[in-house]
Amino acid sequence: MKPDPAEADSSSHLKEIFSIDTGIMGDMSPPSESCNGNVKKKNKSKKDNQSNSNNSEYDHRLLGAKQELFFCHHLSPGSWFFLPYGYRIYNKLVDFIKVQYRRRGYDEVGTPNMYNMQLWETSGHASKYKENMFVFEIDKQEFGLKPMNCPGHCLMFDHRVRSYRELPLRLADFGALHRNEASGALGGLTRVRRFQQDDAHIFCRESQIKPEVYDIFGFTFELELSTRPEKYIGEIEVWDKAEGALTEALNEFGRPWKINEGDGAFYGPKIDISVFDALKRKFQCATIQLDFQLPIRFNLSYSAEDEAKKEKPVMIHRAVLGSVERMFAILLEHYKGKWPFWLSPRQAIVCPISEKSIPYAQELQEQIDKAGYYVDIDMTDRKINKKIREAQLAQYNYMLVVGEEEARNKTLSLRSRDKRNTADHTVMGVQELLAFFKKEDAAFR
Ligand SMILES: [Zn+2]
Repeated sequence: MKPDPAEADSSSHLKEIFSIDTGIMGDMSPPSESCNGNVKKKNKSKKDNQSNSNNSEYDHRLLGAKQELFFCHHLSPGSWFFLPYGYRIYNKLVDFIKVQYRRRGYDEVGTPNMYNMQLWETSGHASKYKENMFVFEIDKQEFGLKPMNCPGHCLMFDHRVRSYRELPLRLADFGALHRNEASGALGGLTRVRRFQQDDAHIFCRESQIKPEVYDIFGFTFELELSTRPEKYIGEIEVWDKAEGALTEALNEFGRPWKINEGDGAFYGPKIDISVFDALKRKFQCATIQLDFQLPIRFNLSYSAEDEAKKEKPVMIHRAVLGSVERMFAILLEHYKGKWPFWLSPRQAIVCPISEKSIPYAQELQEQIDKAGYYVDIDMTDRKINKKIREAQLAQYNYMLVVGEEEARNKTLSLRSRDKRNTADHTVMGVQELLAFFKKEDAAFR
């Protein structure tokens, strides 16, 4: 369970990560926005100058509208619609995590969206978190939409007798979460009422905390320990124990870390992680929270080696992307709308030079599509230079130009969105192209 050294020690690109402007998302407040996706450009004002170096041209809301990725409707403020091209990206992010889950022994589960308020009383949300919840009545009983998956996972753990042999039990859930953000605070994809997380809960024995935490570090970099907040549940001694366990894990891991006083969750301390290495940029999305409280409140137990002996599991809450919506916005601004190939919703477009090469262009599109890449075709009667220009503006990664000669030879002429790309202007066959795409996809760049 030790972190893979290749993954954990990529300090060579750390420099690159830290040199990236992380102020992009510093100011989460919307410029002036109505929820229908109409975003006015920021006026040059004092506030604008002091907020950050953000260039409103790269505001994710503007880029999202321009690229037809998502929109928000005034009939559901704070909950975004993802259009087909946008949902391709959304799914890529989720799929990226799902691959990690399979490698790391997580099981994905599905759980309800609403629960009788009794559940939230048991979990402590009713007393500490109710103002952030959507609460309503069904059959004269109070229900709440889930703002977090954890209590549902406690019910899942508890639905039958558990044995120590099943631990650590890692339950992952991409379920929709709802939190009641004030309408004035809503802003783009970074402050929303409805979102999904790459959320998972690990039920384990105390002796398994450290290896589990280490394994999560394998994803990540900069570490901060957030301690007991003002609003908390449980006993101080239990908090001290949890903070102690995380401190010990952090110290032994040997990477520098900072303390973030009073910023823990109401049920336990947490480790905030601000770099997700495969995506090569500093984020503050990932968290690991250690929780002794929920297993007590839900009276969870498993039978130990001696079957008559019941022990209490510890719960670790962890998310790497955090909210998929927020990560989407961060990446969109970070890449300034120029999606890297692996995430791109517009990976390629076939541009036939004239009507004569359309049948071959369609054949080519079908082959690339079957291989699993997103490829469109420009069937208009525009001149080829115009087609290429339009495709570049739409941020297609590759333009595949085909004329009569290419049709005869079963080849294509590759144009890259990025002029520095050495593959620009190469002529190749479709098999060669697919091999090239496969490499690009695996490079995450
Ligand atoms: Zn949780």
